[in-house]
Amino acid sequence: MSDPGPVLSSGARYRDELVARGLLLATGVDGLYGFSNDLVRLIAAVETYVSAAGAGKYEVLRFPPVVPRVVLERSGYVRSFPDLVGAVRTFTGGDEAHHALLRTLDAGGDWTAGLGGSDVALCAAACQPLYPTITPDLPVGGRRFDVCGYVFRHEPSSDVARMLSFRQYEYVYAGDELGALAHRDHWTEVAAEMLSDLGLDVAATLASDPFFGRAGRALTATQREGALKYEVVAATAPDAPTTAITSANCHLDHFCRELGIRTAAGETAHSSCVGFGLERIAFALLFAHGPNLAGWPDRARARLAV
Ligand code: ZN
Repeated sequence: MSDPGPVLSSGARYRDELVARGLLLATGVDGLYGFSNDLVRLIAAVETYVSAAGAGKYEVLRFPPVVPRVVLERSGYVRSFPDLVGAVRTFTGGDEAHHALLRTLDAGGDWTAGLGGSDVALCAAACQPLYPTITPDLPVGGRRFDVCGYVFRHEPSSDVARMLSFRQYEYVYAGDELGALAHRDHWTEVAAEMLSDLGLDVAATLASDPFFGRAGRALTATQREGALKYEVVAATAPDAPTTAITSANCHLDHFCRELGIRTAAGETAHSSCVGFGLERIAFALLFAHGPNLAGWPDRARARLAV
């Protein structure tokens, strides 16, 4: 009798189906994939669609996927999400340490134990490296930014919508409290309309972040009670709960207080952002309309020009 192999979750089965169709290229690590020609085109089309929604109204800035480590420290990310953090370690030893590292490598051991910490870490949210670059005195009306880039979250999963490395397209506001709330509310509504217009069955729901540990549970409750975060959710795989494909989050004065950013009136500024998950939107579209882009509904194809 042949070995039936391990029983796969439905998420893993669906992921394997996308690999078998050639849309995803497996790397051997859950949550890390290469993308096929069709998927690259689709994600680029989603990016163009999202960027058109804010064109001309935002300062366009871009940052690398690796950020100064202090960015993660000052943003509170290490405190709130230590389980998701990725910091970069590098080799700085001499010949002796190198030989020791190679002995470990050749023996199949953990050679990374021979590396030391560095000044840099993997970006965890596209807006994270932005805040320290904002001048402390904001103009009347605040400032609006367009940022997009790769982020890292260490949550290995066979669910294609939960990757280790993915792109976020964000519109960010820094200014007064009412402006930050208005930005969040505007984009929650606009994002739901934009995604629905692509033929996705979406819902905007109140959400909260998975802050770590016992202290984190209180933060999660505060965030939910304050109705600070909304998500636009859609199905991205069969037999799975819906996934946030866009989220809009009001940070109150969390980032601006730490960095001393003030409104034109001299008060501590507030900020908010909306983040579109480019790959997640692409996966929601593939699930809703099928893997063959040429067979998609005309409206979705026209909106995305695919
Ligand atoms: Zn953000």
